Amino acid sequence: MAQDLKFHEFDAIIVGGGGAGMYAALQASSQVPSQGSSGVQKVAVLSKLYPMRSHTGAAQGGVAASLGNMGEDTAEWHAYDTVKGGDYLVDQNAAQILADDAPKVIYDMEHKGLPFSRTEEGRIAQRKFGGHTHHFGEGPVMRTCYAADRTGHLILHTLYQQCIKENVTFFNEYQVIELLMDGTVATGVAAIRIADSSLHIFTAKAVFFATGGAGRVFKVTSNALANTGDGAAICARAGIPLEDFEFYQFHPTGIKGIGVLITEGTRGEGGILRNRDGERFMERYSPTLKDLAPRDMVARAITKELLAGRGILGNNKIDDFVYLEAMHLGSDTLKTKLPDVREFCMTYVGIDPIKSPIPVHPTAHYTMGGIPTDINGQVGYSGQKYEGLFAAGECACVSVHGANRLGSNSLLELLVFGRRAGIRLKDYVKGAEARKIPQSEIDKARKTYADLLDRKSTGGKVSSNIGQVYDKMQSLMSAKVGVFRNEKGLQECLTGLAEIKEEYKGVKIHNSNTDYNYDVLRVFELGCMLDLAEIVTEGALARKESRGGHAREDYPNRDDENFLKHTMAFLDTTTKQVRLAYDDVDLSKWEPKPRVY
Ligand SMILES: Cc1cc2nc3c(=O)[nH]c(=O)nc-3n(C[C@H](O)[C@H](O)[C@H](O)COP(=O)(O)OP(=O)(O)OC[C@H]3O[C@@H](n4cnc5c(N)ncnc54)[C@H](O)[C@@H]3O)c2cc1C
Repeated sequence: MAQDLKFHEFDAIIVGGGGAGMYAALQASSQVPSQGSSGVQKVAVLSKLYPMRSHTGAAQGGVAASLGNMGEDTAEWHAYDTVKGGDYLVDQNAAQILADDAPKVIYDMEHKGLPFSRTEEGRIAQRKFGGHTHHFGEGPVMRTCYAADRTGHLILHTLYQQCIKENVTFFNEYQVIELLMDGTVATGVAAIRIADSSLHIFTAKAVFFATGGAGRVFKVTSNALANTGDGAAICARAGIPLEDFEFYQFHPTGIKGIGVLITEGTRGEGGILRNRDGERFMERYSPTLKDLAPRDMVARAITKELLAGRGILGNNKIDDFVYLEAMHLGSDTLKTKLPDVREFCMTYVGIDPIKSPIPVHPTAHYTMGGIPTDINGQVGYSGQKYEGLFAAGECACVSVHGANRLGSNSLLELLVFGRRAGIRLKDYVKGAEARKIPQSEIDKARKTYADLLDRKSTGGKVSSNIGQVYDKMQSLMSAKVGVFRNEKGLQECLTGLAEIKEEYKGVKIHNSNTDYNYDVLRVFELGCMLDLAEIVTEGALARKESRGGHAREDYPNRDDENFLKHTMAFLDTTTKQVRLAYDDVDLSKWEPKPRVY
């Protein structure tokens, strides 16, 4: 079906209106008179959601920075914890920047109006979070700044207000479906306007992806419906590799069955995990940090307890659960510091954590890998730079999380690298020529959309049901590529995914409306996730070691000799096969050591 196209031209297009996209837009747009610099006049943010509905708004627990408001702390300790927490797959120069810039971005947010919770003296309040320590691992430190358990929500509000003030142009409810390149130079994007299904081509000197994570690939997840990894898949389809994509974080405490997150802040405030014998089992797995060990360790510990029959039901299954006790924290703490946690428990489980323990098990939570960037958000790896292409936030891999992200380092990453990339974007665009999108790229976008619309059927037999196909992918990924993985399961997953991809080809769209036709968009998103699921699984199969969030039952040890390297997974643009290459890790500060907590 031929589509009428609508054309737009901007200096910079930012895809994504979450924390990373909006902070970058703000930096690229804002005028700084004292430094004599002016912002880029034409920055547009494209977002498939109204920006305030981005997943950043769901972030509860907080954002890390070594302010030292509640005990001694240093950026050096923060950087070290980040490197060790990531099981040494972290680029250490990037981790140092993350830690060094943290106080600056927190104070910037404070000055822009973010209402942080306060200490009695009026300073920004901080709490403990998993894997954050003082004196290089001696004990937990209070490093995570918070605004009750609504930190992300308030970051999003603060940034949106400021973007409006700086006249950033928003294209809300526009879903990007293609990145348009000229060789290795970004020239623009194609997007569907959801309100009327029209196809729009945006030409820009720079394209910036800030499209968030891909948690919906898994069945039990803390992620919002929109977290389908579109940006990563779109880049992979344009020939750009995804870095370390096999590393997926399972958060230890999702509400049993549904995976809705209970923030690590609950344990940061003193919450305790217990098995069916009432035992505080984390003392066995992590004698020093106990319940506040890094997430990969706690998720594995819970899974081991469940499989050993020490879950609350004692059925030896991973869908059993353990208890997270917060009753001893008292009603005041729960009501003032964790009000949303309490409300989630009452809404979803019908219990009040002031009186009863919370039933939890691991939930798919965070995409550690992503679009490879340098420390200024420019996309590329050692073999190739992509001109005019930027990324930041959860869709990107800079890489500060390595094999396992520490809690509260993600909101920090949005701020530190969203900001840096926004500043670089501003300079880049000033010196760049206007772009022309090759006709072949426009034709490609038109075809991608026409193929989606061709699935609209006016009736007749349903060959594949999108809900069933979606569910099969999620169930398969959770069963075979979850907290523990092995060769047999991963092979079975690849076979299963190939079958599901065939079924996907037969998915029809039965909604013929042009206004807000979410069926078309869901089909597009499912296609993205199927590509990503394959990239995760191929990477996991090839990585014959256990490191951070990637735990292989058949290769239980970390193997620095063969696998202390970043995976670069390419999706062949014609065959759709995954090809793996590898790149060096920056180890400029600390020698890899065994990870003991
Ligand atoms: C429940 C929950 C709690 C969390 N709590 C914390 C915490 O306490 N501390 C912490 O550090 N981290 C936390 N995290 C992680 C952190 O919130 C996320 O990693 C982070 O907010 C991601 O921000 P982002 O800007 O990269 O993307 P998002 O906020 O997810 O935004 C993505 C944006 O991209 C847009 N988009 C996506 N695809 C397209 C497309 N095809 N076309 C157009 N637009 C598109 C969306 O509309 C959206 O605006 C939490 C995560 C979850 C799920």
